[in-house]
Amino acid sequence: MIALELQEVEVDYCTGCGGIWLDAGELELLLGNAQNAEQLLDSFKIDSHSIEKPRKCPICRKKMQKIIVGPSTPTLLIDKCPRGDGLWFDKDELQDILNRAKLDKDNKIQKLLADMFRIILAFLFIG
Ligand SMILES: [Zn+2]
Repeated sequence: MIALELQEVEVDYCTGCGGIWLDAGELELLLGNAQNAEQLLDSFKIDSHSIEKPRKCPICRKKMQKIIVGPSTPTLLIDKCPRGDGLWFDKDELQDILNRAKLDKDNKIQKLLADMFRIILAFLFIG
């Protein structure tokens, strides 16, 4: 994992798999304040029937929960630490979020994530 800095916000990027880890504090900074971050985290639905293999949180090593992002199908799942340490996005999920943001223009959460990742991806391609 390497740490990328985006205006004071540190994002951990895995050079091996291309995934990105955002911890709760970083999410707060990206979204402006703790309340926004909390609202975002609370808005996610947990998918308890997912057949995707659970990942372990890089901080507490607990199995992360699969959470559903946005209303579009097939369902877009990302990983969330059960303690709220942060969120994990696979490489394909990043691209997926960007693609879906175009489809679901009215979905605030998705727009927010897409904006966030547009910044991250732009940064990766420049750096
Ligand atoms: Zn954790």
